[in-house]
Amino acid sequence: MYDLAFIYSDIFKKHAMDRAHPESPLRLDEIMKAVNEIQSEKKYNIATLLPEIIDEEYLLSVHVTDYIDKIRAISKGGGGMITIDTTLNEHTFFIAKYAAGATKQAAQLVDENKARKSFAVVRPPGHHAESTSAGGFCYFNNIAIAAEWLVQYKGYNKVAIIDIDHHFGNGTSHIFYHRKDVFYLSIHAHPRYSYPGSGYSNEIGVVDAKGYNVNVTLLPGINGYDWLHSLKFSLNIVKQYQPEIILVSVGFDSLAGDPVGIMNVEPNAFYGAGFLLNQFAEEICEGKIVCTLEGGYKRDQLKAVSKKFILGLLGNKPDFIHQLERSKVTEHTAKMLNQVKREHQNYWRF
Ligand SMILES: [Zn+2]
Repeated sequence: MYDLAFIYSDIFKKHAMDRAHPESPLRLDEIMKAVNEIQSEKKYNIATLLPEIIDEEYLLSVHVTDYIDKIRAISKGGGGMITIDTTLNEHTFFIAKYAAGATKQAAQLVDENKARKSFAVVRPPGHHAESTSAGGFCYFNNIAIAAEWLVQYKGYNKVAIIDIDHHFGNGTSHIFYHRKDVFYLSIHAHPRYSYPGSGYSNEIGVVDAKGYNVNVTLLPGINGYDWLHSLKFSLNIVKQYQPEIILVSVGFDSLAGDPVGIMNVEPNAFYGAGFLLNQFAEEICEGKIVCTLEGGYKRDQLKAVSKKFILGLLGNKPDFIHQLERSKVTEHTAKMLNQVKREHQNYWRF
């Protein structure tokens, strides 16, 4: 079994927006440099596998036909704008289907015990894509398609999606908002200050799925300690859900200086995040983690920061992690976490 399987192809670079657009094809080169470095150390059993295109049947488990047809038509016509910052070129439909396929494949590798963990290094990202609309550089919701595949085709009853991207994954949240078989946790910049303008802590799910959508909102400028504390705090909720597998929307845009982000998270915190996720998965679900790439736009640091995250995911323990127990979060973050407690106190223990 692979310790970690990556799914990647240069094909993901064929979808491109404006040259100055932060969601650049070159992002992937930086992340793959980190993957290659770790792989060349030969310390771990790592594979990099080529993606498969998604079968449209699986796309339809999340997106409506009219929407899929619309994306296909715009792409076929040579491309065009769908929102002010989300455009398509002639390859987008095809490449977005590969990104969804790679994420489903990442889930399949872990489900079939071929890999303990997997990471689909893809673009376009997916977590802002709703079942009927694109937005935030996303077209098809890669992680939702993988989660739905696990539930519908593999009989999973409890899939947890953990979204550590800087932004609220509105698409993923809404797709599963009425569902208990897919739990959604997102730690993200407060919607008052950041795209997509939703994802408040009082959005907790509906009817009998109340409590199964957890939004942890963080204020601008938050540092790595507070960010990691918030992740640790949130994992304590997911633990009570007892997921069979964990899917992670990995975004590096909380990093200090990210051109799209407003947080101030230091690179080392991503080492901590990888470690905490791995530790959590080892304890709860035999280490099963499926990652897919969302945002992260500070290109000159993407290699370093993704390497840290991956090393953490592989079980390496950062020296500073014990300080998490001792250090206190800032008053602002404590207030945010208290809001989550208040909203979820009827559903989870704190
Ligand atoms: Zn993002």
